[in-house]
Order: sequence, then C-alpha cells, then structure tokens
Amino acid sequence: MALRDRLFPREPVCLSCHSRIIFSRLSYICDSCLQELSYVTRGCLRCGCQLPEAEIAVSCQLCSSQLPKLERIRAPLIYQGKSREVLLELKYNKNKAMARPLGELMADYWRFFSSSKGRDYLLVPVPLSRKRQTVRGFNQALLLGEVVARERGMVIESLLVRKRDTPPLYHLNNRQRNLVLQGAFQLPAEKIIRVAGRKILLIDDIVTTGSTLNEAAGVLLTAGACRVSALTAATAERV
Ligand SMILES: [Zn+2]
Ligand SMILES: [Zn+2]
Repeated sequence: MALRDRLFPREPVCLSCHSRIIFSRLSYICDSCLQELSYVTRGCLRCGCQLPEAEIAVSCQLCSSQLPKLERIRAPLIYQGKSREVLLELKYNKNKAMARPLGELMADYWRFFSSSKGRDYLLVPVPLSRKRQTVRGFNQALLLGEVVARERGMVIESLLVRKRDTPPLYHLNNRQRNLVLQGAFQLPAEKIIRVAGRKILLIDDIVTTGSTLNEAAGVLLTAGACRVSALTAATAERV
C-alpha cells in the first residue's frame, strides 16, 4: 500500500455507482444502489421464485413436480435491472469484490429463513468445468459461499466436480434437461464420507430452471446426504 493511502485512507467507494459510501448496511454497495435492487418479496416456499403478489398459492406451479430432489431453494434477489447488473459485474467483469455484498445479502436471507438450525448445513458451491474455471479464473459460487460461511460461521467445501459444461436449459422440456444434465456432476469417492448423513446447502450465483441444482442434489443424496437445499444470490424471472 502506498504511504499516502496509509496516511489518508481513501473513502470506500460503491462498486456499482462509484460514489462515496457514507453509510451502508452491506460492504462495498451504497444504500441508494441497495434500494435499486429487485428483491424477492413473496417467494415460492419450495423454489424461492417470486410469486405474483395477488396470488394466494404459497408455491409455484412449476417447481413441485420438477425439482423432486431439492428440499428448497432460497434467493434474495430477482435477476433483473440493477440486481442483474451487479451479478454481471461479478461474473463477467470479474469484479471479485462484488461477491462480498452479495454474499452478505445471501447470509442474511438464509438466517431469516432458517434461524439457528441453518448453521448445521455444509456449504457446497456448484462447480464450474475445469475449462470454464480456467477461462474465468475463479468460481463465483465459491466466492459467494466463502462470504456466507464467514458471516454465518458455517463450513464450505468444494466437494463436487463438474465433468462438462451444459448449454442454457430454459428452452428445453423436463426430459431434455435431465438428459443434458445426466452425469454432469461427480462426487469423488474419497469425498463421500464428508457428505454421508449431512445436510447440504448448495451455493450458486443464479437459479434459472433449478434443474442444475436438482441434478447436483441428486448426486449428493445418492452419496448419503440426508437433505439438500440451495441458496443463490438471484432467481430468474419466470414467464
Ligand atoms: Zn452505489
Ligand atoms: Zn416454485
């Protein structure tokens, strides 16, 4: 650190709008940017997607039949507008510091839904393929999970391996998605002991159809996990 920075530390600056942060509830994002984010205000109890405010149902029509392996998914943000911008900043602009406020938001959201029992879960980031990880230089799910682990006093372990990349799944039907995802994740034999009898919380940046998380959950359940939930920063809008 330069001597000038040590003597006169710079004011923290918002990673999104670059204005000086006077006060904020989260690290690195100013309060006015926080107010611009789109939050899930009425989430499906199962998959966490935003339900229409006027509806009485507590779960969406899509998830109960399509995500049989997952206990539940939770996500604080809706993937649109400013929420989408901050996630793109992390993933494609490779602004790794953005994982900090997003991870803090996820940690708060998980605490809200799970109270003290939520700390029993072992955090497992959804892995990237080796090729994609090399190109990007980091796994955004691991960065987010590390923040959640630190905030909540939980443990995170990169247990799963991704054997191959999968194409976008939203235009495929249920059967086609299962075919594309079959065998995409693997749990190395020596890691099975870490999973057996445990409650697992999968971590990812965004949930779209939920099929990828469901496939990863299947691998962990086969290895003896007692239940698998997922926590992501954002949930895609369903049309
Ligand atoms: Zn800002
Ligand atoms: Zn749902």
